[in-house]
Amino acid sequence: MYGSIELGGTKIRCAVFSEDGKIEEETRIETDKPYDNVKEIGKFFKTKEIKSLGVGAFGPLDTNKNSQTYGFVKNTPKKYWTNFDIRGELKKAVKVDLDFTSDVAASLIGEYYLGAGKKYRSALYITVGTGIGASYIQDGNILDGFGAPEMGHIKVDRIKGDKVKSVCQYHDDCLEGLASGPSIYNRTLCSGESLDISDQAFSYVATYLAQGLATYSYILRPEVIIMGGGVLNKEGMLDLVKTEFDRIKEFQINNYLDLPDTDYYIVLPDLGNEAGLYGGYLMAKNISEN
Ligand code: ZN
Repeated sequence: MYGSIELGGTKIRCAVFSEDGKIEEETRIETDKPYDNVKEIGKFFKTKEIKSLGVGAFGPLDTNKNSQTYGFVKNTPKKYWTNFDIRGELKKAVKVDLDFTSDVAASLIGEYYLGAGKKYRSALYITVGTGIGASYIQDGNILDGFGAPEMGHIKVDRIKGDKVKSVCQYHDDCLEGLASGPSIYNRTLCSGESLDISDQAFSYVATYLAQGLATYSYILRPEVIIMGGGVLNKEGMLDLVKTEFDRIKEFQINNYLDLPDTDYYIVLPDLGNEAGLYGGYLMAKNISEN
């Protein structure tokens, strides 16, 4: 059996997978103080005979193996977690070999091998929720330099008439600041679930997301873009993004890029909200097999 953890900003999901990749057991813990959380995680896995563990965690994380703080959470707005040695403390608590990556990269690994990306050499996964993050994989390698890419913080062109204050504390006009879940609330003072999809806030968000996808398409040329996260769970949201992307393809990209039909190019995750857990399972399995 293998262990998998999806460590998110509000909840932590721990799962035990069978050898052939089925979820045998799962538990959820509320994200709170790191030492308390790690203790609870240790307790959950204590009685499970797992060979290894794969972890996808919120960050930013230090993923540079040569760094003194490899495996640490870096500056995060999440209280208590800054400079926490997530890799070291989990290893102590669960007592098996582990591999870790960002939450979005773990979801991408799940989708690339078992879901919407499995037919392709390269894929981009973007999650749109409380924040916006994206990860890119090519021939099985996750793109990573000094750390994970920060694709949520690229600049987008603010739509005339959209006066909302950016929800990013660093940038006035970045994608996360104008298109993440909290930006919808700031425009409407309602939660996304209670609004009709025809609300202007969704059309703004779709336009910004399509701008972001156009930029990623120029730079990375992924074969498929998989969109996950709470905002994409809204019925009709993906269609809005695709319509906006088609418009940009024609009038801003001016058909300069050779891109597949948008229905095949921009898709929802096949594994739904389980993509990250499957990614963790694949990472754990990879340790044991190598
Ligand atoms: Zn930003």
